[in-house]
Amino acid sequence: MTMTYDPTNIFARILRGEIPNKTVAESAHTLAFEDIAPHAPHHVLVIPKGAYTDFADFAARAPAEEMLDFHRTAARICEGFPEGYRVITNARGHGGQEVPHYHIHILAGRPLGPMLT
Ligand code: C5P
Repeated sequence: MTMTYDPTNIFARILRGEIPNKTVAESAHTLAFEDIAPHAPHHVLVIPKGAYTDFADFAARAPAEEMLDFHRTAARICEGFPEGYRVITNARGHGGQEVPHYHIHILAGRPLGPMLT
């Protein structure tokens, strides 16, 4: 089951430059920016520039070049946190996804405790 992509979602608007963001990294197919409501001293969102709704949609449809660019960009950010970090993605209703454009959260800067529930 694939959700229909909603081009009015807030990350699509950020990608179109309609809403400002605090950019951390940008590459050909990927944008990373600070979360406006951080859950840790460092809380970065990494999004593909293409229109994908969630992890499964991205993994199923994105060309290899976009996937590589996305993961390499995210990994470079993670390497900036040698003491450790957490990468999570929320998907659809039960996953608690609020913005229906695929994104991962990178959290770092403090001990993050056990796995989130
Ligand atoms: O994974 P989920 O969809 O719940 O996360 C969306 C994230 O986008 C939230 O952490 C929220 O703080 C963030 N956000 C943002 N800038 C916006 C709107 C939402 O960083 N303008």
